[in-house]
Amino acid sequence: MTRPIKAFVDTKALKDNLSCVRKKSAQSQILSVVKANAYGHGIERVFEGLRGSDGFGVLEVCEAQTLRDLGFRGPIVLLEGVFDPRELEDCSRLQLWHTVHCNEQIDWLSRHKTHKAHRVFLKMNSGMNRLGFKPEQFKSVWNRLNALPQIEEISLMTHFSDADVVGGALRQVETFDLHSQEVIGERSLSNSAALFLNPHNNAIAQDWVRVGIALYGGSVNHPTQLAQAWGLQPAMSLRSKIIATQDLQAGDTVGYGSTFTARHPMKIGIVACGYADGYPRSAESGTPILVNGRLTQTVGRVSMDMLSVDLTPVLGPENPPPLGAEVTLWGASTSGQILEIDLVAHHAKTLAYELMCGLAHRVPFEVLDDTD
Ligand SMILES: *Cc1c(COP(=O)(O)O)cnc(C)c1O
Repeated sequence: MTRPIKAFVDTKALKDNLSCVRKKSAQSQILSVVKANAYGHGIERVFEGLRGSDGFGVLEVCEAQTLRDLGFRGPIVLLEGVFDPRELEDCSRLQLWHTVHCNEQIDWLSRHKTHKAHRVFLKMNSGMNRLGFKPEQFKSVWNRLNALPQIEEISLMTHFSDADVVGGALRQVETFDLHSQEVIGERSLSNSAALFLNPHNNAIAQDWVRVGIALYGGSVNHPTQLAQAWGLQPAMSLRSKIIATQDLQAGDTVGYGSTFTARHPMKIGIVACGYADGYPRSAESGTPILVNGRLTQTVGRVSMDMLSVDLTPVLGPENPPPLGAEVTLWGASTSGQILEIDLVAHHAKTLAYELMCGLAHRVPFEVLDDTD
């Protein structure tokens, strides 16, 4: 038997999540964000599930190239724009839309030779203070950009820092509206959180929504609510097996650092999954995990290739022996029980985003198509 760990990408979950997103704003077009190799899922693997999107948002030219190679002809936006002037050639060749967030990018554009003018997303820094032009400069920057022959159309965008709390986007929406009111162009403001916390609010959803985590079935306001409460399903499931068991006596300890001590006799299972697979080492004893679809918890430290689980809830004469049992680290078990990735992330003091993106290269993937 090869090492039993495997990640599954669920095409039907992606499609359902995409329609869930669409229902939150019927008037907006959806840019499905597939940066970081589709949040660790793999662009090729999610493409079938997300091909109904109106466009895609990416970070790197190579991701855009992958989408074109897969046959996607619609809009693709480079969310941070080009990192050097040569990438403008790629934008022309692949017909990419690109963000413009600083004056250097405009200088590069002004010197770029192209047959076909570009569509760009001019970014306002409405309070996040990461990328974008100051609100007061927005109009004059737009004027400068608009005068370039290299530009075909300018859309306007900004990004929220606090969209995952109720009312958290409002201050930035006000700033954006105030300083873009004399500027024409389609608008793009919302990420997943802004859309889900302000459904059917066209002032926030506007023309294009840029949605990532919701499509992959992560919560949009972790840890307040879980993805299932939003009608979202896990697109990624990480599963492995129990490869050994140990019977502990009271006082026995488990794993490196002996951080877990058995208080009474118990049976534990050793799972073929560790931090070298992308499971967070910061997940302490008590992190939820499914064995044969039943909820139990981890015991002791996560090591490089293994972790341990309490088998108490899966023992009993009527249950199958635990050796070889299926373990769901996050996502859905084969029998359909769901362990929310946000719960695991919460125990590890991180986010679903980081767990998805951090899945290690050595974990093999399988794509489940809609008919599975
Ligand atoms: C990543 C990203 C998004 C998507 O954010 P989610 O929280 O995953 O929906 C939207 N806009 C920009 C600019 C991004 O970088």
